[in-house]
Amino acid sequence: MAQAEKGRLNYRCPSCFLRDLDIDMFFDKDKGEYYCIRCQYTGTEEDVLAKNQLARVRYRAMGKRFTEEEFDL
Ligand SMILES: [Zn+2]
Repeated sequence: MAQAEKGRLNYRCPSCFLRDLDIDMFFDKDKGEYYCIRCQYTGTEEDVLAKNQLARVRYRAMGKRFTEEEFDL
């Protein structure tokens, strides 16, 4: 339970990932944000996860067509 920092996953930089670069981000404990050493991206865990999710959806969608059910809002 007390190993929150150590147990954290490394998050991939969503900004770099969209350029086909797989860069692990570092965590700035003072700011409580993740940051990328390659580009200027910084973001909270929540932000990183949300953007990574978008990237995943985009890449997974590349080889396939969407069906109407997938646009079920
Ligand atoms: Zn980056």
